[in-house]
Amino acid sequence: MSEYQYQERQVPRDRHSEFRLGEGKISGYASVFLGGMSLLAVLAYLYPSYLTTTELRQLYDAEYLQNILKYGMYFALFFGAVTFYLKKFRMMGFSGMALTGTAFLLGGYTIPVGPVEAKRLSLGVDWMILAFLGSVALFVTLEKLIPKYKNQVILRKEWGLDLFYFCFNHLAISAILIFANYHIGHFDWAISERAQDSISNIPIFIQFALIIVCADFVLYWEHRLYHEVQFLWPIHAVHHSVETMDWLAGSRGHFLQVFSERAMVMVPLYLLGVEESALNLYVAFAALQAVLVHCNTKLPFGPLKYIFVTPQFHHWHHSSEKPAIDTNYSAHTLLFDWLFRTLHFPKGHWPAAYGTTKKLPQSYLGQMFYPITALLDQRKTTSSRSENP
Ligand SMILES: [Zn+2]
Ligand SMILES: [Zn+2]
Repeated sequence: MSEYQYQERQVPRDRHSEFRLGEGKISGYASVFLGGMSLLAVLAYLYPSYLTTTELRQLYDAEYLQNILKYGMYFALFFGAVTFYLKKFRMMGFSGMALTGTAFLLGGYTIPVGPVEAKRLSLGVDWMILAFLGSVALFVTLEKLIPKYKNQVILRKEWGLDLFYFCFNHLAISAILIFANYHIGHFDWAISERAQDSISNIPIFIQFALIIVCADFVLYWEHRLYHEVQFLWPIHAVHHSVETMDWLAGSRGHFLQVFSERAMVMVPLYLLGVEESALNLYVAFAALQAVLVHCNTKLPFGPLKYIFVTPQFHHWHHSSEKPAIDTNYSAHTLLFDWLFRTLHFPKGHWPAAYGTTKKLPQSYLGQMFYPITALLDQRKTTSSRSENP
């Protein structure tokens, strides 16, 4: 492997997709997104049983969030007016204002907040909006301040497809939790009350570290099986089909993978019986790390990059270059890749290309059915090989 010639990935400027001040494109997109989210938020205030997440509702103050909604709606109108004034993207300005206008007509930010009847299955509109706003504020800012590829644009190729995945994964949160809870029910036999008692008595920070290691072990092997078991690979190939790495890229994943990954990682969390604060710390850490490792950023991590999975490390997992294929499976730390000899982390280098060696369909439906079409293709190739030896 030492002879491999690493090359720097070239990202040419994409003037057509770039955001430039004064054109009306920035304000147009801001207006449409804020208007769209305001309308969704108003619908969530109107129908909280169906459009909000039971687990999440306990963590935020719905009345306080109406203040943020208020600013969101006024900014959507303001950006819409600016876009209209700048002329070039008038249609976007109009759409943003129309979405916000509808949100106002439905009750805006003054809908009374009362007790919510908890439904078993609901759509996580609240989770989707909060995660979107948080991700844009944190990760898009990071990508602009410390980018790895300076010329890479926010509206890169297939951003709409990945935004769809982002929305799907967040809206499906309660279905994912129901499935994960059903799944962990099969592991009751493995619970040891004595072990759980001793674990809950150790300091929170050590409990947190213990969860990281145990979850990483499960995620490592699940991930490795997705790569190395022939009929599982087409499911996971969807995640690898992304050719531009950024904060949104990690959202791309077949729903079977999204559901199975969350269900599997819940098993060690359930068996360890850790304190709730350690568990919450882990959930926040895992959620942030999962987005961060896909980001277009060269944020310096110093020696921490040899302990924790960082963007550079996970970008190598997405590389289509030969020495990097089927390496860097870990989600949290480098421990298991190092231990099981699947580490690929050439000093100072980043991948020259991302994606799968065999192209996947570029539509959501095409990718959803890809595991089936890929298996049928494999069968066809095998049978034609046996017919024509
Ligand atoms: Zn993978
Ligand atoms: Zn990834």
